[in-house]
Formats: sequence, structure tokens, C-alpha cells
Amino acid sequence: MPTVGELTAPYANFMLGPRSGAGVCESCFNFTSGYARCYACTRNQTWLDAVLPISYSVAHEQLHHALAGYKRLTGEVARRLRIELAAVLWRFLAEHEACLAHAAAAARFELVTTVPSGDRARDQRHPLRFVAGLVGPVGQRGERLLRRSSTGAGGRSFDAAKFEPLRALANESVLLIDDTWTTGASAQSAAAALKAAGAGPVAAVVIGRHVNREWHENDRRLHALSRPFAWETCALCARDG
Ligand SMILES: [Zn+2]
Ligand SMILES: [Zn+2]
Repeated sequence: MPTVGELTAPYANFMLGPRSGAGVCESCFNFTSGYARCYACTRNQTWLDAVLPISYSVAHEQLHHALAGYKRLTGEVARRLRIELAAVLWRFLAEHEACLAHAAAAARFELVTTVPSGDRARDQRHPLRFVAGLVGPVGQRGERLLRRSSTGAGGRSFDAAKFEPLRALANESVLLIDDTWTTGASAQSAAAALKAAGAGPVAAVVIGRHVNREWHENDRRLHALSRPFAWETCALCARDG
């Protein structure tokens, strides 16, 4: 059985850790053309107390393929990708879950859950739930807290009714796990549902923060990020020194 270190080693060759700074969105680490927050973060309602992307994910590049493939593919290839992505989450959360809790003003996360699939029929067997179930640091805190509602609108925009809670919460802090972040509408909708159910601080860790290499100066900015990926530093602890 390969170790977490062995499973994640190849990912260090292509993962690109976000870093805060001028022209980086202060909430989701998207590149902006000089603004403190990106367009989507100014437009969406903000329910998440903090967001921590592990890496940028660029269309048609390796992490993008892994994040699409673990859901779309089947058989041995899909199984391998799921184990690798679980190992990436495992290794990252073991080092940086505390950084995210600190940013969300929580002592620790009492509950850990995933953002449900946008597709109600697929929600029960969402591969992300399988992946999250393998992540050691999540341990006994993992619980399915949300499901796709039948009333909420589809699509990619923020909708507080998109997800519905499976039980009431009593001010517990919640760590939301998602695979990708494009506009953040899905994770913000999930956070809104958790808060409506009574959650305390809610923060999201996402594996890949999608960026478009062709937009503005993104290609140059992606090239300027340090390689290989540094497991010992995340976007939050790098910012806070
Ligand atoms: Zn943003
Ligand atoms: Zn950190």
C-alpha cells in the first residue's frame, strides 16, 4: 500500500500554490487586474468565513484532468485518481487545517462535510464524498450535512435554496470540502444552507481554484509561482508569516 507521501509526490510537480498579494483576490485567491476582490467574489453573497485553495487548476493541465477524471472516468483509472486526490487532501489538511480554522475564527472544525453535487440524482453517490471519506485527518468528524434541494435553481449562480440541510446544527464550526472552485457560487450556496441550519464558522478547502491561463496576465503570473509545490506552506500561512 503506497503512503500519502508517495501518492502525492507527483502532484508537487504540477500543483501551483496560490499566494496573496497585489492583484490577488483576498477571499478566493483568483488573479484580478489590480482589484482586492475578483468579480465573482464581489457579485456572490459571501457566507464562507474563509476559503483556502490548495492549488490553482488550469484548463487542460494535469490537475484539471485529475479533478475532472476522478468523477467522469470509471474503473482502475478513476480509483487511482480518487486515492491520489484523497492523499492530496490528507497531506494538505494535516499541515494547514489549523491555518484555515484560524482564518475563520474557529478554534477547530467540529464537523467536516462536502459540497453536494449540483445534480440531485448523482448526489447520493458523489465521488467527492468517497474521496473525503478516505482522508485520515477528517476522522470521525465527517458527516453528510447537505443535499441538493429540488427547489433551488440550477446553474452556476449563487442560490441560498440550492442545498438543504439534513439536520439542525448547534453553532458547530464546519469545514466544507470541494474539488474545484470556479466562481465559488456552489460553495457559497452550501455555506448559506449550513448557516441557515445553525452552523457557526464555515470555511472551505478546495483542491483546485480554476484560472484561465489566457486571461489578462495570468500566464505570466502562473509562471511566477514557486515550483515545486511547497507542502509546508499554504496561501494563508504564507500571508500571515
Ligand atoms: Zn475571489
Ligand atoms: Zn498553512
